Amino acid sequence: MKVHEYQARQIFADHGIPVPEGETTDSIIDAADIAARFNKPVMVKAQVLVGGRGKAGGVKYAENAEAAKVLATKILGMDIKGEKVRKVMISVAADILSESYVGIILDRGTQRPVFMVSSAGGVDIEEVAAKTPEKIHKLAVDPTVGLLPFQARNLAYKLYRDIGQVRQCADILMKLYDAFWNVDASLVEINPLITTPGGDVMAIDAKINIDDNALFRRKKVAAMRDLDAENPAEVKARDADLSFVKLDGNVGCIVNGAGLAMATMDLVKMYGGDPANFLDIGGSSNPQKVVTAMEIILSDPNVRSILINIFGGITRCDDVANGIVEAFSQLKPSVPVVVRLTGTNEKEAQKILASVKLPSEDTLDDVVKKAIELAG
Ligand code: GDP
Ligand code: MG
Repeated sequence: MKVHEYQARQIFADHGIPVPEGETTDSIIDAADIAARFNKPVMVKAQVLVGGRGKAGGVKYAENAEAAKVLATKILGMDIKGEKVRKVMISVAADILSESYVGIILDRGTQRPVFMVSSAGGVDIEEVAAKTPEKIHKLAVDPTVGLLPFQARNLAYKLYRDIGQVRQCADILMKLYDAFWNVDASLVEINPLITTPGGDVMAIDAKINIDDNALFRRKKVAAMRDLDAENPAEVKARDADLSFVKLDGNVGCIVNGAGLAMATMDLVKMYGGDPANFLDIGGSSNPQKVVTAMEIILSDPNVRSILINIFGGITRCDDVANGIVEAFSQLKPSVPVVVRLTGTNEKEAQKILASVKLPSEDTLDDVVKKAIELAG
């Protein structure tokens, strides 16, 4: 789960990380009032869950409350990478001398939280990682002991020479690790971590992704979820207990089991197609799940064909077949659907499916090729 910058900033501030003063609102009048109250130059910052707001025109400097009002008028309601801006943060503008990057990700390779720091901050860190990886310094933290002060200082020395700034930065890194740990984050990021002409080190952007599997024990963080900003199909899938990730292709996929879903997507790619999604209906075979899965996939205008690939183990093919028939009668899909059902109760499933006359192929390769062909 992603949280907005203003929420991540609050979590950082709660952990003692220095951040500029700021307030968030969905109204233009309030935005002007907040800026007038600060009585200083401010930044007007779009609150959206997608990255790269600055480049998209969603982060602007305003000299005074008048200017802030004009910018809030422009930014509220703006579309940033498909997400509508519903809130803006008015934040006291900082004077920036340098911009660094600091972040922690949960790394699969080392199975540890890994710090990444770079003095090439502010811009796209992905680009730095791709073009000049030597500018990024990494440190894997042993979670049983956490980040040790000497490690924090060593990292801070990669960014600053001034001992005062090294100390401030090391302190921020210790607190960032605590924040990462305390909310069960999969990623925390400060980009940029700035220095001011006065020598202060401060976080002016904040990003936190939370591990969904930990939300049950992080109620306060879970309450930060912004359903309006999330992809509606993904929200619906979560409610229906389906694992779903939207992708950019045109072959919709309904599969049982995450491994089989990945393998199916790989095959679609291998035969020259493009999956429109990852969707795992899970182990149980509740026909209603198939209906919801189909509904979610059909709501994507890019989808040109649907591939249903079920390997019946605990999942019973006849239950899935009943779900498919039900989906056809309820949704009347406008795109062709190709089915492969094999395993437990497959014969019964074939009989049930005979009523809707779907193209079905015996092998996985054939069914994938068919779905791609039908997607045109
Ligand atoms: P992002 O584009 O979503 O990463 O949003 P950021 O909050 O990181 O802002 C983008 C850029 O705007 C930063 O890298 C800064 O260069 C600039 N910026 C943001 N806040 C301030 C500020 O308080 N003062 C100044 N001078 N520039 C800022
Ligand atoms: Mg940023």
